[in-house]
Amino acid sequence: MAVDLGALAENWRTMRKLSGNARCGAAVKADAYGTGAGHAAPRLAREGCRDFFVADANEGARLRPLLPDAKIHVLNGVFEGSFAHTLAHDLIPVINSPEQAAFWCGNADGRPYALHIDTGMNRLGLTPEQAVRHSESSAAAPCLVMSHFACADEPAHPLNARQMQMFSGLRDCFPAAEMSLANSAGIHLGPGAHHDLTRPGIALYGGEAGTGALTPMRPVVMAEARILMVRQAKAGETVSYGAAHTLARDSRIAVCGVGYADGFHRSASGAGVPLRSAVAQGAFGAFDGSRVPVIGKITMDLTMFDVTDMPEGAVNAGDWIELMGPTITLQDAATAAGTVSYELLTSLGSRYTRKHRD
Ligand SMILES: *Cc1c(COP(=O)(O)O)cnc(C)c1O
Repeated sequence: MAVDLGALAENWRTMRKLSGNARCGAAVKADAYGTGAGHAAPRLAREGCRDFFVADANEGARLRPLLPDAKIHVLNGVFEGSFAHTLAHDLIPVINSPEQAAFWCGNADGRPYALHIDTGMNRLGLTPEQAVRHSESSAAAPCLVMSHFACADEPAHPLNARQMQMFSGLRDCFPAAEMSLANSAGIHLGPGAHHDLTRPGIALYGGEAGTGALTPMRPVVMAEARILMVRQAKAGETVSYGAAHTLARDSRIAVCGVGYADGFHRSASGAGVPLRSAVAQGAFGAFDGSRVPVIGKITMDLTMFDVTDMPEGAVNAGDWIELMGPTITLQDAATAAGTVSYELLTSLGSRYTRKHRD
């Protein structure tokens, strides 16, 4: 699989521009959404990004040698078990609860921390009331105060305005802190969502930044599989496990070396999986811009594509089939599997060789 670092950099510049007066950071958790944080994060730093967000202290520790000058925020916060790691690698914990706040402020000798306030998601973060109490009682003020949108990809959802209002209302409690609210889709909600720092993730990696794709991002990931063999089969025969797909015509079938162990989700099978009753078609592959459908069930290591409509001799053993890239968009591939671009990217397996080019 190829990761286009130039496209990543361009997507970051696009998000920076859309962030207006706010600084633009980057979410590089989960190995930079499966693209390889060891390459993606330094490339973003070279572009001027200084504020990074990872999920846990191990991810942060791995990035520290590659990002010597950056602020690396750890979204899961800090615990006794990760405290030494957090200090040793100069990570900024995002404090998510009054307990974490007490632990950090009692042990970290005034080292910087970020404070997460939950404004309507009931995931991580202090309640606004707890945050106000924290601001009144705690000696050490946070360097960053943040919150996270629940529905930013639905711009008209009333929760967006409520979260923005609640978050802005907390600014006065933390006069010394920078404020950060917007993820990729949140950046599109406009200046009221930008504050001092934005935190795009999926848009950097080529995902749609909102339903309706306000800004088509450049694709970053191109995943391909090798065709192991091309076989002929007769009308009436069946394909793959469960004999769930019956051939309606004499067919040519490309058997490809990719399966659900690579993150080519079984739910994207052409037939024989529960999702097929809700989403009409399975995944597609592509050769030089021509789309060909998956037939039958996707198996652990192998997937069959119907290449009967391709010109004779155009598809051969040893060739590569595109699964995601210039022809098959990340969004289409995710929809076919009944999931979101985030899950599809982060499940791209370790069997892919990630080739980074710029
Ligand atoms: C993952 C994450 C982001 C980035 O979100 P995208 O939707 O990928 O842009 C920002 N903030 C927090 C707290 C996150 O967990």
